Amino acid sequence: MLQETTEKSDDEWKKVLTPEQYHVLRKKGTERPFTGKLYHNKKNGVYACAACGQELFSSDSKFESGTGWPSFWDVISSDQVRLQEDNSNFMHRTEIVCSRCGGHLGHVFDDGPKPTGKRYCINSVSLDFKEAEEEEKNAES
Ligand code: FE
Repeated sequence: MLQETTEKSDDEWKKVLTPEQYHVLRKKGTERPFTGKLYHNKKNGVYACAACGQELFSSDSKFESGTGWPSFWDVISSDQVRLQEDNSNFMHRTEIVCSRCGGHLGHVFDDGPKPTGKRYCINSVSLDFKEAEEEEKNAES
């Protein structure tokens, strides 16, 4: 049951996540830029929360931001994420968390490309990539 994942205790999260995932998703850490496995990923598919599996971003909205983290100009649906004020590290930022499990994903900024002007700056370790099925290509013949 996916719903149960929202009620995991800290110890339970520690068991199901890698140490790096735990640090970012549960302790609001940030992975080092240019190190994430999905930063250069250009395949078609969907990016889901690595902790609970909720689908968050489409490859259609991914863009090269030059920041070192996977960046998107939109979420699949605004219901999938929660935005909250983050005033840590002497900065004023807007944090993005998964609406289902509360996992920390990254931050959103107002310097993204059109049409939204948003830049969702997301940690690679907070995401699982699901590549689109090949059958979409074959269906045309
Ligand atoms: Fe989640």
